[in-house]
Amino acid sequence: MRLRIHRGTREIGGTCVELECEGARILLDLGLPLNEPDLSVARLPDVVGLESGSADLLAIVLSHGHRDHWGLVPKANSAIPVVMGTAAEAVLGAAAAFIPGGVALKASQYLVSDKTLTIGPFKITPHIVDHSGFDAYALEVEGGAKRLFYSGDLRAHGRKGGLFERLVRNPPREIDVMLMEGSSLGRLAIDQAFPSEKDLEQQFLDRFNRTSGIALVACSAQNIDRVVTVYRAAKRAGRTLLVDAYAAEVLSATGYDTIPKPEHGWSNIAVHIPQAQRIQLVRSGIASLVDRYREFRVWPEQIRDNASQLVMLFRGWMMRDLERADALSGARVIWSQWDGYLADGAGARLKNECETRNIPFETIHTSGHASVPDLKRLAAAIAPGRLIPIHTFGREAFPGLFDNVMLAEDGEWIDL
Ligand SMILES: [Zn+2]
Ligand SMILES: [Zn+2]
Repeated sequence: MRLRIHRGTREIGGTCVELECEGARILLDLGLPLNEPDLSVARLPDVVGLESGSADLLAIVLSHGHRDHWGLVPKANSAIPVVMGTAAEAVLGAAAAFIPGGVALKASQYLVSDKTLTIGPFKITPHIVDHSGFDAYALEVEGGAKRLFYSGDLRAHGRKGGLFERLVRNPPREIDVMLMEGSSLGRLAIDQAFPSEKDLEQQFLDRFNRTSGIALVACSAQNIDRVVTVYRAAKRAGRTLLVDAYAAEVLSATGYDTIPKPEHGWSNIAVHIPQAQRIQLVRSGIASLVDRYREFRVWPEQIRDNASQLVMLFRGWMMRDLERADALSGARVIWSQWDGYLADGAGARLKNECETRNIPFETIHTSGHASVPDLKRLAAAIAPGRLIPIHTFGREAFPGLFDNVMLAEDGEWIDL
């Protein structure tokens, strides 16, 4: 077996790894590069047959549903089978109707944790991991008597941190090459830890208790861990979490009984449909989709009258609805995603608007990626023959932190 990283040896974004064994090939991830956010001009990596199709290119295996791992799939030949998690597929499908450039991918086979999948000469064993993207996997691939472990994106401090500990306690054995993500390198000190989702729950609870009006939390509905954190804090504060149709659809799509959603059996969660969303749903011919949330609907006057008992999963454009409903008295905005998004665009506009309106604005967030001490534990547990950095802007730091590091170049073939 041999591999080449098409993108990711020196950057986060556009992750794509090609594996070849006995005349057959597969791809692990096919992400959109961060510096080419426009799909229409972004170029596919130089993989034979990716555009035209090729009998020996057997599958594109996606570690999880973040666009930097699947975003170029719509440009690939549609005959190439896509393999991903069931819930990741469902969440992307539910989101597609609501998101500009949203795409519903269709998998031909599914990743199931610890179940080995055979594709040609490749035996792929997925390991479900803790990450801010839902239904995310690390991938163990065996081919030609060699063994590769690709970490995908992962962390230990989320709501499913136990999955990371399980991997460290019971690691895949005799790994020849490990591709390990290093998103955190260069972003924080090497001995620094991130706050956990549990820490965040406590912070949210504290802020909700100190907010006299509605608490508005700006986080991605697809960051399911975070939605659960916000929901739990809301419930503990005696508040109800308001979600829009998009978030309601995404939460339902997870298919997990343990994840709160506006369905029978769940309390402290309700649905509001902002005006712009109502119009969009009608235009897209899917207005009937909200019918199933009828029992859970709240109306603008109820938001105004019960503001002190509500937390809203919020985006900047929803401010208009809250203003129209006269529901902003005593409100607080909590930014719960990467701070970099506040530099320009919708994030910067929201921050400015809060300043103008005298609405308190603060950030409560934690990373979707492992800290350096956690990465060290993982690398030590797996103890690969060679460890190659991927999904990182900080590869130079790897040799000083981990054993057996090999720095690869984009496009270079490496024999396992
Ligand atoms: Zn990710
Ligand atoms: Zn990523």
